[in-house]
Order: sequence, then structure tokens, then C-alpha cells
Amino acid sequence: MSTLSGIGYDSHRLAPGRRLILGGVEIPSDVGLDGHSDADVLTHAIIDALLGAAGLGDIGQHFPDSDERYRDADSLELLASVLPLVFAQGLEPVNVDSTVVMERPKLAPHREAIRESLAAALGVAPARVNVKASTGEGIGFVGRGEGVAALAVVSLRVAD
Ligand code: MG
Repeated sequence: MSTLSGIGYDSHRLAPGRRLILGGVEIPSDVGLDGHSDADVLTHAIIDALLGAAGLGDIGQHFPDSDERYRDADSLELLASVLPLVFAQGLEPVNVDSTVVMERPKLAPHREAIRESLAAALGVAPARVNVKASTGEGIGFVGRGEGVAALAVVSLRVAD
């Protein structure tokens, strides 16, 4: 076994009066993501991919949305608290690929900041964190601007 891979998916509703945080970066927007935590949909997908690759279940098992400790939680801190569990399995992140599916605003101006933010949280180089942008083409909850979805794949290797 040289590498292990995990997949993650998440979606959150867009709502007025909320902040839009993706990969730990706040993006100027008249609507933001609603949820129990900061609703950072991209970081949630990456946490699930990390947990998946390490065989450690899912984000809901580790951070139940019924738990008041995680109300308005900083999702990058949740990610940071998952990493020691991955290391304890003798594993470490190799790379992340991800897609944010969002109608607006445009992700491109924020892409490099998001890569750097996630790379710092994961302890890898920004070049090992890829963030792609897609839209809903006017179709479905993303296309109607009702929400944002994110997908991620994480690879882990056995630590030296
Ligand atoms: Mg979520």
C-alpha cells in the first residue's frame, strides 16, 4: 500500500446575513452559507475526504451538529483537529483536489488565497491543494443560487 484516497461531498444553503467562507477565506458576497458551524462547505468536503482516506468515518460523527460546541465553529480549526487522528494512523496528506460548485460570486479571484489557507491547515505546499470552480448552469439548487456544493478527493501516504 503506497497511498490511500478518500472522497468528500457537502452542500450548504445560501442565506442573507451570513458570511461566505470557503477554505477558511471570507469572500465578499451579499449572501453567505448557512449552517451550524461557519458552514465552510469546501473545508467540510475536505474533512470528509481526509476522514474517508484514513478510514475514520465522517464529519457528522466527529462534529455532530447537535453539539453546541460546534455552533459557528471555525471549520479550519475542525480540520486542524482531524489531522492528529490521521497522523495517529501513521498517515499524512499528499494532495487535495476539490471543486466548488457555485453560481456566484466568482471564485477565481480568491483561488490562490484559498489554496494557501488550506495548505497551511493541512501542512502541505499550496501546489498540493487544487481548487476548481464550476457552476450550476442555472439548473438545480446551485443554479438557482440557493446553495453551494463542494467535492474533494484527498490522498494520504504512510508517513516516513
Ligand atoms: Mg457541512
